[in-house]
Amino acid sequence: MTSLMLFTRDLRVDDNPALYAAAETGHFHCLFVKDDRVRSSPIASERRNNFLEQCLKDLSHSLTQRGSELEILTGDWLDEVTSRAAELDAQSIHMAKDYSTYAKQRSAKLGAWCKQHDVLFVEHPGLTAVPPGDVAPAGGGEYKVFTPYWRAWLNAPKRQVMIPPPPLADAGVAPSIPTAPEGLEIGSTLGGETHAWDRLHQWLQNGVSRYQEMRDLPAVDGTSLLSPYLHLGCISPLRLVQLSEDLPGAEPFIRQVVWRDFYTQILDRRPDVSRNDYRPRGDLENYDRPLFDAWTSGTTGFPLVDAGMRQLKAEGLMHNRVRMVTASFLVKDLHQHWRLGADYFMTQLIDGDVASNYLNWQWVAGTGTDSNPHRILNPTTQATRFDKDGIYIKRWIPELSSLDTKDITNPSANIRSQVGYPSPIVDHHESVEIFKARRLATA
Ligand SMILES: Cc1cc2nc3c(=O)[nH]c(=O)nc-3n(C[C@H](O)[C@H](O)[C@H](O)COP(=O)(O)OP(=O)(O)OC[C@H]3O[C@@H](n4cnc5c(N)ncnc54)[C@H](O)[C@@H]3O)c2cc1C
Repeated sequence: MTSLMLFTRDLRVDDNPALYAAAETGHFHCLFVKDDRVRSSPIASERRNNFLEQCLKDLSHSLTQRGSELEILTGDWLDEVTSRAAELDAQSIHMAKDYSTYAKQRSAKLGAWCKQHDVLFVEHPGLTAVPPGDVAPAGGGEYKVFTPYWRAWLNAPKRQVMIPPPPLADAGVAPSIPTAPEGLEIGSTLGGETHAWDRLHQWLQNGVSRYQEMRDLPAVDGTSLLSPYLHLGCISPLRLVQLSEDLPGAEPFIRQVVWRDFYTQILDRRPDVSRNDYRPRGDLENYDRPLFDAWTSGTTGFPLVDAGMRQLKAEGLMHNRVRMVTASFLVKDLHQHWRLGADYFMTQLIDGDVASNYLNWQWVAGTGTDSNPHRILNPTTQATRFDKDGIYIKRWIPELSSLDTKDITNPSANIRSQVGYPSPIVDHHESVEIFKARRLATA
């Protein structure tokens, strides 16, 4: 009797309930299908595809080492999975439950095929630390505000974290935290469970205790850099919480990991949030090509915004504080619709994730879960607060690298023309006043 272990966004052997269940059936076959539709989507990203390739290589290697193999196919996901299941005469299919509209559609089709062919189809938890629906408000639906969700999440029963399943573990693979190599630099992110554990080990030893103090400073290595690994499931979010929870200073870090669960439970109930306002504010569907291009190319004349956008283009990553500032700038200073910026981020980010990206954009735009829809982030004062010596700005804007610290967050017109850095593309105060007036008019 064969069961099919269908990997999707759970590219790991540690704490993988689907893999565990497949292995328990005795004889199992591991499969990953590179889905043509995902690869050709307008928000696909070459960087994420490359990262995925690295993750698959790593998973394949670790499965081989453990006496199993990963088959990788490319094509129409449903066709490939069902053909392979039929050829193998699979009695069951195990995969991780996912929550985007598309993921749900394709798993529903697979479920229907399984029913028709008398194959057991089981979707397992593991993409989030606590599955959507396991923490729900008394009146039903989703939690709309983070803090009550966080309190309920803390008290929610959690499943047991799992080591690799016995046939694999028997081959000597019980996970151990590997010795940390030299740090992975931002921008050299390598895909796969092995690298995720390297980074995690380093983070738990040296980073998590200083998280609260450092997390808002884009110039320092003050956050975990685990988001690409979490997105493709190279590390289990529950394992991450379990390993962090007793460490000094871990609570603010775990809180951020729980934001990921929070947004996933919203996506589960409101699959349209990648297109529509979660809380409609009647914003205009603006698109101004020159303004948008200045934003994407990092030439708005606002140093922190430009540094962030240039980092995004160069590395496929951006610090959280700077993501907030650049997103706010696009919506509240340039008056462009959040959807345009969010789609652009998806085409660039290694960690691009439907729930986290679109719902963070909506939080910043004031159409999402934030209780204050009129929050404005001033790009100059944000730079002064969080990059006061301009280290991050200078790293990404070579034109400004020779400037004195006092000039860096808002260079004078004279300095700008000397070093060849553009003038501000808009007047921040005027722009936000116009934005607020429009919001009031449509409220
Ligand atoms: C406009 C905008 C777009 C974003 N798009 C994405 C995205 O596509 N994918 C993504 O993973 N994160 C996204 N984030 C959230 C956050 O910026 C990244 O998770 C974080 O910068 C990743 O770095 P890190 O792993 O070092 O995070 P850490 O600070 O070390 O946090 C640990 C983990 O917690 C989770 N996390 C942290 N902050 C958030 C948050 N605000 N929302 C949801 N989860 C969070 C991530 O999984 C992260 O890896 C976005 C934020 C904004 C403001």
